[in-house]
Amino acid sequence: MIRIVLLGPPGSGKGTQASALQKRRGIPHIASGDLLRANVRDNTELGRQAKPYMNRGDLVPDTLILDMMAERLSQPDARKGCILDGFPRTVAQAEALEQRLEQIGCELDAVIYLRVPEAEILRRLSGRRTCPACNAVYHVDTMPPQREGICDACAAELVQRQDEKPDVIRKRLEVYEEQTQPLLRFYRGRSLLHEIDGTIGVDNAMDAIEDIVANARASAQEQTA
Ligand code: AMP
Repeated sequence: MIRIVLLGPPGSGKGTQASALQKRRGIPHIASGDLLRANVRDNTELGRQAKPYMNRGDLVPDTLILDMMAERLSQPDARKGCILDGFPRTVAQAEALEQRLEQIGCELDAVIYLRVPEAEILRRLSGRRTCPACNAVYHVDTMPPQREGICDACAAELVQRQDEKPDVIRKRLEVYEEQTQPLLRFYRGRSLLHEIDGTIGVDNAMDAIEDIVANARASAQEQTA
């Protein structure tokens, strides 16, 4: 069982790393942004309430997020662990997560911060194209699909997310600085924070994350022995 949080600005590679880790270890990758987008797509009440915040690049209010995440974390697959991506995003969310895990008798093993400079973030996000059908992600320069504008996996037409347009990207980065960056201090204070350079390439970053996860697991086992 391993529970980790991936932290970092939008475009730092959290989603890529989390889904690779899910494949390697069979631990569910739980991405609050993906859950919200599925609600928007299905036009649920939550989706209708969240959509205007997401389109502006603002955070969705904690009350909506906390209910959604509590529900997801209570599903059977999340009992064997989870890789959280995009949640928590505020200190209030981190505190709520801590309480929730305490209630079910577990805790986080590690929080991994992917550090990436702002210029690189802008380059990554503005070139990103997403498949609205299966959520596969491409990049016009670094990871183009085989046929321009078409998803390799399911042949749907790729889109640029509304929140990946330049002015919304800038807003999301501001919101990140103000509301999510303070989490670094919060988790450093709990001796859970590990920092890795998010520009060393997907495979190298994956190896660094695997090392952190293996050490966190070993020290958790030592403590219970
Ligand atoms: P992401 O795909 O993680 O970048 O999330 C896309 C958008 O969903 C964000 O810009 C927010 O509007 C919203 N969102 C995702 N996760 C959270 C969260 N934990 N708290 C508040 N809003 C969130």
